[in-house]
Amino acid sequence: MALELFNTLSGQVEPLFAADGNALRFYCCGPTVYDYGHIGNFRTFLHVDVLRRAIKLHGIGVHHVMNVTDVDDKIIRNASAAGKPIGEYSAKFEKAFFDDMKALSCETPEDIARATEHIPEMVELIQRLAAEDIAYQTEDGSWYFRIKRFPAYGQLSKKDLDGIEDGARIDSDEYEKDSARDFALWKSAKPGETSWDTAIGNGRPGWHIECSAMALKYLGESFDLHAGGEDLMFPHHENEIAQSEACTHKQFARHWFHVRFLLVEGRKMSKSEGNFYTLRDLLLKGYRASAIRFLLLSVPYRQQLNFTFEGLAAETSAVDRLRTFQARVASGIKDGKWPETAADPELSATIRKSGEDFTAALSNDLNTAEARAPIFDLLRAVNTAADQNKLTRADAEATLAVLAQFDTIFSVLEDHDAELTRNALAWAESEGRMADVAPEVLEAFGSSSLSDVDIDALVAERTLAKKQRNFARADAIRNELLEKGILLEDSKDGVRWKRK
Ligand code: AMP
Ligand code: ZN
Repeated sequence: MALELFNTLSGQVEPLFAADGNALRFYCCGPTVYDYGHIGNFRTFLHVDVLRRAIKLHGIGVHHVMNVTDVDDKIIRNASAAGKPIGEYSAKFEKAFFDDMKALSCETPEDIARATEHIPEMVELIQRLAAEDIAYQTEDGSWYFRIKRFPAYGQLSKKDLDGIEDGARIDSDEYEKDSARDFALWKSAKPGETSWDTAIGNGRPGWHIECSAMALKYLGESFDLHAGGEDLMFPHHENEIAQSEACTHKQFARHWFHVRFLLVEGRKMSKSEGNFYTLRDLLLKGYRASAIRFLLLSVPYRQQLNFTFEGLAAETSAVDRLRTFQARVASGIKDGKWPETAADPELSATIRKSGEDFTAALSNDLNTAEARAPIFDLLRAVNTAADQNKLTRADAEATLAVLAQFDTIFSVLEDHDAELTRNALAWAESEGRMADVAPEVLEAFGSSSLSDVDIDALVAERTLAKKQRNFARADAIRNELLEKGILLEDSKDGVRWKRK
């Protein structure tokens, strides 16, 4: 069954395919690394993760490119308030973003491209646009895109641009919802701001040009799909199309994929409403990363998800039920509990159908809600059969195969939750955020908030200290770990550690 997906550009659900018959080349606008990612950001990246996993499930390769916006108005403002160079400021949030993506079990794109490492490519693109008489320079040395010179402007967002005023300009990176205006390609240097001295002047890139330059570099002039949150459709994606197609005279991306924003407890998420959550906030409150992933994927990407704490609790028990079920079926196989007798045809058919319904729903515009429903039907039917001693080994194996297929998309069955919460605790400790930790989390995880990675690093340092006969340091590390509830056992195979 072909994978079909809604295309914002055509307004229709269309079969998705790789034009080169090999790998589906797609670009997803990545994070602006000025702060920690919030659950809205991650809803978008999680659905893009499901998209890439679904493409692979359909036997198609993927070449997924994501940019990291590490220079923009907000980064410059925040870095200067923190008294840091922008590189140092953004590196911390970039690392946090990728740690969070890993915690949410998102696969890593094939290419990750930082804006600040692609300035020459952006300059070249602006020069090409200038040669086409589309980019123009203003008195202060900034460069703008003249949208009147690109008649197809508005094709993605379907905006009626009859009334646009030629030469009216906008130089902010921040979103402009309504008006179409000439937008900044390059901003001339301002005193005290980071800038690059280039052939088009001393300055820094506008936000939109980075995505065109990087998509063209990594994916070619025409590629299969472009993704992002719904807010990016206009003006960002419209501007990406304009910049790229005005240069190449070829279609930029064939298919456009936009993820709808979420609500939190029925309202728009915002700091001022007090309903704004990062992944880390939720982990410190004791919610599990797997349940957060499952909840953010529970509603298809084109529908609005209402994120609630009640919903999150329900997803926690849904993930638990699936894990317990998988363990029950698997351990029965291991122990020889399920007989190798002829299978019950009705149960075998139910198992097969649940797998088919799962892939059918996924192929139908990534309907994640309908794709997960048959797995719970499977759970009920197989548990009942097992209770009545009617589950055969063949059906148990078929059940595990369906669960494994389900998990290639949802990726919640492997349990890393405790480790991820511990990592969040270690982060809270290092950032002085222990006040945000829920008491039950402190109780459950004890006083030790060292992550496994931290412990491994200390153990390695102790081994080295011993080798260098620095026994004082080795003992100090042992004591430090002991105070945090970590016991070390020296054996001839090396050092093992465990939590008290
Ligand atoms: P940003 O770091 O603000 O550039 O956003 C990164 C990605 O998250 C973009 O694709 C945005 O469209 C998306 N995004 C931002 N806020 C939300 C939200 N509330 N719900 C869903 N996606 C969002
Ligand atoms: Zn972009």
